[in-house]
Amino acid sequence: TQQAVLQQERLRSLGQMASGIAHDINNAILPAMLYTEGLLESEKGLSTSGRQQLEVVLRAIDDVAATVARMGEFYRQHGRQMPFAPLSLNRLAQQVGELTRARWSDMPQQRGLVVNLRTELEADLPDVSGVENEIREALINLVFNAVDAMPSGGDLVIRTRRLPPREGEGTDSVCIEVADTGVGMDEETRKRCLEPFFTTKGERGTGLGLAMIYGIAQRHHATIDIESEVGRGTTIGLRFAGCPRPVAAAAAPSQVAYRTAA
Ligand code: ADP
Repeated sequence: TQQAVLQQERLRSLGQMASGIAHDINNAILPAMLYTEGLLESEKGLSTSGRQQLEVVLRAIDDVAATVARMGEFYRQHGRQMPFAPLSLNRLAQQVGELTRARWSDMPQQRGLVVNLRTELEADLPDVSGVENEIREALINLVFNAVDAMPSGGDLVIRTRRLPPREGEGTDSVCIEVADTGVGMDEETRKRCLEPFFTTKGERGTGLGLAMIYGIAQRHHATIDIESEVGRGTTIGLRFAGCPRPVAAAAAPSQVAYRTAA
């Protein structure tokens, strides 16, 4: 559809802008990094406090380099093909609930100011084929948004369901959704929420969470379904094509390296 084309165009120009910025930053910090390292290695002529200061500088440069690298990862969507593998959305749902615990359980434990998270998982759910890290990242973002939408507490559900095949597909589809009982979105917000940089959170928001999810969904041929009502809550679902036949479950749960934002 036209909206999808527009959205892809926006993501593409955003990606170009990001890689341009990353390139400039890398060029600028490289000499700073080399000279600082050089100074630290030349034993002589440095006082202890001078050395400490340079170490602080070096660490700051390292942080910037890491941020730039992450930014690159984030937008390198079309270039590199990540390997798709069969994965269980039920398992991801459980992981994501755990990984985000600090965010939703970290509320004042007063009456009515608690976010209750539960999972409702359909038994015998077909696997889907995808990049596990990406889908996990998308779900984490959905949970964060849901928590943001419930400043005075509420219910958060991560739900999986098997649905009939989408048009042109031979296998049942599989949906994972995050539902909250939060503030909801008005019509304009619902229409625009996938746009990069669209946020209603002011300084606290980046407006990139759902844009990123949109990119991830596209790569997985997943459909995004958004239902929202002001004052009642929001449900955002991702619907994938199910794998044709059951695949033996992965041996061990993959290692998860994720830290929740402060
Ligand atoms: P950010 O969270 O930084 O604002 P997003 O792209 O994740 O960026 O979200 C864009 C906007 O969509 C949010 O600012 C908010 O207005 C709206 N939104 C997203 N998820 C929800 C939700 N679960 N409930 C209400 N509004 C939401």
